Formats: sequence, C-alpha cells, structure tokens
Amino acid sequence: MTDTKKLFIKTYGCQMNVYDSERMAEALGTKGYVPTDTVEDADMVLLNTRHIREKADEKLYSDLGRLRKLKLTRPDLKVGVAGCVAQAEGAEILRRAPVVDLVVGPQSYHRLPEMVEAKGRVIDTEFPAEDKFDHLPERLSPRGPVAFLTVQEGCDKFCAFCVVPYTRGAEVSRPVDRLLAEARNLVARGVREITLLGQNVNAYHGAGEGGAWTLSRLIREMAAIPELARLRYTTSHPNDMDDDLIAAHAEVPQLMPYLHLPVQSGSDRILKAMNRKHSAEHYLRLIERIRAAQPDILFSSDFIVGFPGETDQDFEDTLALIRSVGYGAAYSFKYSARPGTPAAEKPAVPTEVADERLHRLQALLTLQQRAVQEAMVGREVTVLYEKAGRMPGQMVGKSEHLHAVHVQDETGRIGELARVRVLASSTNSLAAVRSSDLT
Ligand code: SAH
Ligand code: SF4
Repeated sequence: MTDTKKLFIKTYGCQMNVYDSERMAEALGTKGYVPTDTVEDADMVLLNTRHIREKADEKLYSDLGRLRKLKLTRPDLKVGVAGCVAQAEGAEILRRAPVVDLVVGPQSYHRLPEMVEAKGRVIDTEFPAEDKFDHLPERLSPRGPVAFLTVQEGCDKFCAFCVVPYTRGAEVSRPVDRLLAEARNLVARGVREITLLGQNVNAYHGAGEGGAWTLSRLIREMAAIPELARLRYTTSHPNDMDDDLIAAHAEVPQLMPYLHLPVQSGSDRILKAMNRKHSAEHYLRLIERIRAAQPDILFSSDFIVGFPGETDQDFEDTLALIRSVGYGAAYSFKYSARPGTPAAEKPAVPTEVADERLHRLQALLTLQQRAVQEAMVGREVTVLYEKAGRMPGQMVGKSEHLHAVHVQDETGRIGELARVRVLASSTNSLAAVRSSDLT
C-alpha cells in the first residue's frame, strides 16, 4: 500500500497541456499521488509549461521563486517542471533554479513514476523510442460529459515563427485501435462529447486496419460509438483539409459545425515569409468549400500581427481576409520572437505599430463575434449540459457552435442534451430557456 501524497499541477495554456496534465496526474496516481487544488498542502508541485508565445520563461521563474520560499518551510516538497519549456531549456532550468527536483519533456511523462522515486535531481527530455501512451495508466473517470483525446502530436511544418516542431518533435499519430478503445472507455464513463486534439490534428495518419487512417476515417468510425453525441477536432492546418474531411462535415451528424482553422495572416507576402505554404486565396476557397458542405459552420482562427516585415498594406490584407470570412471567434497575438526559430533573426516591427494593429484587428474580430452571437437570438440550439449555473434552476453548457449557453431549466441534468431557445446574447455567452427534451 503506497502512502497518499498530494499533487498540485499548474497548467499553463492550451488544451493539449490540460490533457497532458490529466495524464501525468494519472501516472503519478500509481505512486499514491492524489490531486489537490491548494499548493500550500502539496507534497509535489508540477508546473506544466508551454512555450508558444507568452513570456513563458518569466512566468516559470517567478512561479519557481514562490516555490523556493515554500520549500524553505517544507523541505520535503518536490518540484517538477514539465511541458515545452522543460523540453527546450531543461538543463538550464536545473542550473538556474535549485528548487527544481525534476524536469520532464512532453514525450517522457510515462517515466514520471520512476522519476519521482529517483534520488537526487533528474531530467528526461528525450524523444524516447517507446510511445508514452502505451505506458500511461488507463484513463480515470472523466470530470464531466466533455473530454479531450490527443490523437496526434508534434509538427513537421516549421512555420518560421513557431517552436512546436522543436519542442514537441516530429508528427506522430496514435494507432486507431488505441484511440477507439480510449473513446469507448470515455463514453462508458459518461462522456458525450469528445474533442480530438493534435498540433496538426488533420495531418493524422495513425496505423489502423488496412494501413494509415485519415482523420475523417477516424471520425466516421468514432461517430458509430452509441451514446457519443458530439465530435470536434482541433487544431487544423489549412493544407491538411482533404476532401473526405470536408465531406464528413456534411455527412457525419455528430461532427459539430465549428472549425478552428488558423490562417495567421491575410497577406501572401507574409504567409510566404511565415512558411505557411498556402495563399490567402487558397484559404478563402477552402472556407467556401467547407461552407458548401456545411452551410451552418462557424470558423475561428489564430492571427499573428507584427510579424517581421509586415507593412501597413500586409496588415490591411489581413483585415480584408477577416471581413470576407466573417469569424465566429478568433485568437490574435502580437508576434513574439522565439529563440531558435528562423523569424527570430529578422528585424522586428516597432512595438507601438504592432500594438495598434493588434488593437484594430481585435476590434474587428470582436464586432464579428458579437454579430454572430446576436444572430443566434431567437434560434433553437442544442446544449450539452456540463454543470449547474450560479443561479437557481440554471444549467450551463456549450451549443453546437461552441457558444457558452446559460439555460433556465429546473429539471436539467449534467450530461443531458437539451434543445433550447436563445433569448439574449451577452459579452461571452448566450442566455436561453429550454424548449423541449431531446434525450
Ligand atoms: N498548429 C497550430 C497552432 C499552434 S500554436 C497551427 O498551425 O495553427 C497556436 C498559435 O500560437 C498559432 O496559431 C499562432 O497564432 C500563435 N503563435 C505561435 N508562435 C507564435 C509567436 N512566435 N508569436 C506570436 N504568436 C505565435
Ligand atoms: Fe507551429 Fe506551424 Fe506547426 Fe502550427 S503548423 S504547430 S504554427 S509550425
């Protein structure tokens, strides 16, 4: 019998990191660690970092500074650093921060149970030959009716601004049978919506019956799992949207009408400098083809402003692309140089210029997002209830279009799909009442 110890994980950033944190917690569960929400009573603190755009190092070192103080009063406290910053700067972290006991890269999480028992300070940032997923314990009970499932990791695309190919390594797809088993297992435990995750999820090419499967084939197979009501996938690259994946949006009712399809810029010159390998025109045609398959679909995208060499005209081209697509949601970032990437060598756009562009771009995207939400008022949508709301008799969940919806529903249950009528739109959510039962 192992003693119970408490584990606090801080997750920085994206959904893939949230998924990884859950799997790490499960791996450490085999050594008696149970999750805690308070850092003060933890026996181990794990910082699951990311490296993509924010000042990841500064955040990490300021958190480590706080942990150093905590460790003065609690010498047995174990401190670990995981994720992309661990991968990129592992040895440097051990050197700079004596408080750190272990450093583990994203491909080595399955080795965590041994690492926590090792004497002294340990580091593992290899890209091991074995697949970590084969060595991680079975999924525990999911927290609600919505779950993420990583199907693909890494990236071979080498966009000029991005660290992912260096920190996460080459593209690797998990085999079909494992993913179907994991999906069935999640559904058996009450999950009704699964989001398939990958850095380039639509480049999926996992081994399955008859050879490598595409993402659309995997989606069609998963859609056959009874009780799995909804499927989504993210993040897609425009160059990997093949015909069958587009067709799946017309043919698979479980596939939700929402697609995150990052374009980054609307200027061909900048797209070329970014090494995106597609033009603005190609992206716009693609959007048209997807809309032809599923007219009700909403798009979201990522944008980078102030990429080295971006002129006023390039920026205007991005605004023009945004106007012609009409996005339901979007994420926009000011370019930040990541050491080791080709773009980091180029002269930067002045900060004031980039700030002003970001401001204008976000104002336009916010207008579009509001208009899309307003257009939902009066419509009937389906909401998967994820939790009770703050008001009595209120349930909260997501619509098909990933809008957060607060529903007045006295009898609503978590995990239920309810047909509701949208009454109003506020900044980041919709308000609705239940119209009838679906399940
Ligand atoms: N694989 C996905 C996204 C990965 S990173 C894709 O290709 O779209 C998520 C987002 O972070 C990117 O889409 C990009 O908009 C942003 N990003 C990545 N590196 C950045 C950098 N150096 N500066 C600013 N934003 C960046
Ligand atoms: Fe980064 Fe580009 Fe790969 Fe996305 S496609 S992870 S932005 S290199």
